Amino acid sequence: MPNTTHSNNLIFGSKRQLVLLRIWLGIGFHFLKKYKNPLLINRIRKQVLSLKQIYTAEFGITKMAFVDGKYYFNSNMNGWPSPLFYRPLDVEVKKGFAQAVSNLENLKMVQIALTKKCPLNCEHCYEGHELNKKDTLTLNDHKRIVEKLQNAEISVIQYGGGEPMTHVDDLVEILNTATDQSDFYVYTSGFNCTEKNLLKLKTAGLTGISIGIDHYIADRHNAFRRNEKAFQWALEAAKNASAQKLVVTFTICATKEFCSEDNLWKYLEFAKENNADFVQVLEPRAAGNYEFQDVYLSQDQLKILEVFFLEANSSPKYKQHPIVLYTGYHQRKKGCLGAGENYLYIDTDGYMSSCPFCRNIKTHILDESHEASIKAMKSEGCALPKSKIEIYENV
Ligand code: SF4
Repeated sequence: MPNTTHSNNLIFGSKRQLVLLRIWLGIGFHFLKKYKNPLLINRIRKQVLSLKQIYTAEFGITKMAFVDGKYYFNSNMNGWPSPLFYRPLDVEVKKGFAQAVSNLENLKMVQIALTKKCPLNCEHCYEGHELNKKDTLTLNDHKRIVEKLQNAEISVIQYGGGEPMTHVDDLVEILNTATDQSDFYVYTSGFNCTEKNLLKLKTAGLTGISIGIDHYIADRHNAFRRNEKAFQWALEAAKNASAQKLVVTFTICATKEFCSEDNLWKYLEFAKENNADFVQVLEPRAAGNYEFQDVYLSQDQLKILEVFFLEANSSPKYKQHPIVLYTGYHQRKKGCLGAGENYLYIDTDGYMSSCPFCRNIKTHILDESHEASIKAMKSEGCALPKSKIEIYENV
């Protein structure tokens, strides 16, 4: 059932323009304070715009989610106003001025698999081969990982798994031990996202949750997640997260079976009715439980996804619907955003890979050799099979 207490967090139209103006003024003030040279502002503006273009479509930012006093145009980035918002911009400007930035410092976001434990066994799980084996990383390891990432000023850290909410008290402790140098997000199926647990996480500093929900019909979602309670957990999680003023993202794996216009629009409506600020669309990849399977979308289906993404974010008809995020679109236009360029993935044993799907496993994050490993990821680029890259480039 839709949550009838839904409060619309989205801003658009003239209010959005006013906020964007305030953000630009904030950026100008930030860099004036930092470089104390107004003559550099135009050069800085160009570098900020080039970063913005990586994450936004041609029509720019048409709407934003306003959650707990901050504006978000992407739930994988920092909200504004916050000193963290300027951190990725600082890095881009430093690079533009040919100042040294290490490969680790260059990252905008890191996703960490907290645990191998999970009560589900979803059809698409990219950690399918590791689920419910013995965890190798200790709580102390996780604290050291966060410390290392925060020393490099990584401003967005996301926890996935396994199901990170099986270890809610560890998460609380990690967040309590961390500094306020990063925004933290949890990727969850909705399991264990009770009011009490989300309150504990919010109090410890959690910014948002991304709930994996793969169909607007309960039975279809439960079949995909191979658990008859999965849909109910996901909707409870959305309701509780919204009540705690967490940024709420519905993340969907848009499979061949799901990917039709009708399903996508119904899903967006469903996400709106259930408190989502964002809908994040992922394309299936032949990894984890999908390894060796032909799960890739056809060219026609990719086209359907792109049209949906563009229309949902640009048409006035959908101005009050959740913001749709679709990394595949940007990846085809501007190249891979993972692979150590803007983010990387740390698996359940602590080893770095380009992303959760491209497992070109490198060194352990706590090893000193991270710089060489990230450099190798960058030069390898996206690990999608070449035949698939060609199909995707032709969309
Ligand atoms: S996708 Fe997430 S919820 Fe599903 S089995 Fe894998 S770790 Fe668990």
